[in-house]
Amino acid sequence: MCASRKLPAKQQRAIEILLRLKQLYPDATCSLDYETPMQLLVATILSAQCTDVRVNMVTPALFRRFPDAAAMAGADLEEIEALVKSTGFFRNKAKNIQAACRMIMTEFGGEVPKLMEDLLKLPGVARKTANVVSAHAHGINLGVTVDTHVKRLTYRLGLTEHKDPIRIERDLMKLLPQPDWENWSIRIIYHGRAVCMARNPQCDRCTLADLCPSATLSPKPLDTPEPEDLAITPAHPTPAIANKSGV
Ligand code: SF4
Repeated sequence: MCASRKLPAKQQRAIEILLRLKQLYPDATCSLDYETPMQLLVATILSAQCTDVRVNMVTPALFRRFPDAAAMAGADLEEIEALVKSTGFFRNKAKNIQAACRMIMTEFGGEVPKLMEDLLKLPGVARKTANVVSAHAHGINLGVTVDTHVKRLTYRLGLTEHKDPIRIERDLMKLLPQPDWENWSIRIIYHGRAVCMARNPQCDRCTLADLCPSATLSPKPLDTPEPEDLAITPAHPTPAIANKSGV
């Protein structure tokens, strides 16, 4: 059967999965603390290879000291480094944060840009960060955020045959309605933390089991834990959340 004839059934399954995830995690949202688009951008850059909990521990002091792009652009780099040190890779992150804020000031009038092509010009920003910032700060779904959980679950759920985030994102953009692109990512991340973990997926209590071709399979080599991309992982996804719909 050709791919185009398969698509409607796969699309229906993706939408049914999305509906169930919305019931399971009705209040799912970005778990990074921020007040402005610039602060979300900075927090998302800091969240690479770091937990959101840790990021939320360092950003209050960082944003008190440098609350906007102008302040961050003019900051002493070593001071930024000291404030973000505990998030890991702090020199690179501090350098990217300052360079991004300088570009925001010089090229974008002090505002975090809204176009994907402009967001991708900012140092330290790739598609994942751009999607998170655009969806949560601007309310615009430019794409589907693909972190390690979205990558793993989308593959297990049989909605992609790819392991490359760009191709996975492309597949999901075809399957899901644009208004739900970020809804998908945020809830898949919750489910990946609470039920469909990398090493020990709990298929026997998964409310998606009847829709999942991997429900009876052991984890594949793909499932090796990857510490990257914790940008929008929930701080404390618990089985109690999943149990809301009787899983
Ligand atoms: S059935 Fe198993 S593999 Fe499929 S989504 Fe649920 S926990 Fe993950």
